[in-house]
Amino acid sequence: MTDFAAVLLEQDQDGKTRAQLTRLSNSDLMEGEVTLAVRASAVNYKDGLAVTGRLPVVRRWPMVPGVDAAASVIASQDPRWRAGDEVILTGWGVGETHLGAWSQRMRVSGDWLVHRPATLSPMEAMALGTAGVTVAEGLDRLKRHGVTPADGSVVVTGAAGGVGSMAVMLLAREGWSVTAVTGRPEEADRLRQLGAAEVIGRDLFAGPAKPLARERWAAAFDMVGSTILAHVLSMLKPGGAAIACGNAAGMDLPTSVAPFILRGVSLIGVDSVRVPTARREAIWNHLAATVDRHRLAAMTRVIELADAIEAGRRIVDGAVAGRTVVAIGD
Ligand code: NDP
Repeated sequence: MTDFAAVLLEQDQDGKTRAQLTRLSNSDLMEGEVTLAVRASAVNYKDGLAVTGRLPVVRRWPMVPGVDAAASVIASQDPRWRAGDEVILTGWGVGETHLGAWSQRMRVSGDWLVHRPATLSPMEAMALGTAGVTVAEGLDRLKRHGVTPADGSVVVTGAAGGVGSMAVMLLAREGWSVTAVTGRPEEADRLRQLGAAEVIGRDLFAGPAKPLARERWAAAFDMVGSTILAHVLSMLKPGGAAIACGNAAGMDLPTSVAPFILRGVSLIGVDSVRVPTARREAIWNHLAATVDRHRLAAMTRVIELADAIEAGRRIVDGAVAGRTVVAIGD
């Protein structure tokens, strides 16, 4: 195949982003040792930011969005990879500085790839995708910090979204009693089916956060940042920890030092883009061995490449529930 379908982002003279489904040729592919036939991708919040230009995540024009890929190796100059290998790629600047996975073809560094566990289909791998890696890494950080389900329950904000739904499912699976926070009451039943013990609205987090509030949770997975994370920090139990994953409500964090110095609370950041490869291998093997496939399927919608741009626009409006997989293939 010398030309192939891809979503292309271009910036016009006013700095606005234009997105279109088009055809590229092999000569458009970037430098790299491994050429991939993409079998599936996903719609992540960052892809939505790239498609809409709402935040400047794209740092090379034109760009192909898509930070997640499940793919087959077509050709490799890297001795670690051979034609026919089934691989997963998430992060590493793909869809930001390097042409991404909303494309039938990619050329990438062999350093960025991990083997797809044989028990996960390409679609299941992409249902997990960056969301699975982020939550698994956050869970590991929490464990290493010494906070466990015996210390109390965990709160998940932005729970109906992709990473939030993943956190509810994987935390419940690891024995945590999960409070899911959502602005969409209509998602409550789905969140309970994923394993939430309790589903609450955002009202508890309205207005500016007090330095300290009633102690509620031992741990938190936060997808939204800003005032909601400040409230969550003020409500953690002594010695508790919050995993900061996202910024869906904003980049700011209007908090005080009170939770840190008066309750010994910790704020732990997770950056899924740069998780080292050896850790990724371990994460994917763990996810493949433990994930509940029925729950994963229940939180996932599959779309075609032609519908990815619209899904990217919807995700930054908070209008997408669970994970969205993009079926690609030849
Ligand atoms: P989604 O859009 O699927 O989920 C975000 C959720 O946040 C929404 O569903 C909504 O949940 C909630 N939300 C949105 N806007 C607001 C608001 N103004 N106030 C309060 N809550 C809001 O995106 P993803 O799950 O893909 O990503 C979530 C966040 O995590 C993003 O900021 C993303 O950039 C970040 N992220 C970070 C990673 C890392 O490595 N650290 C990796 C992947 C994502 P509800 O409807 O339930 O209220």
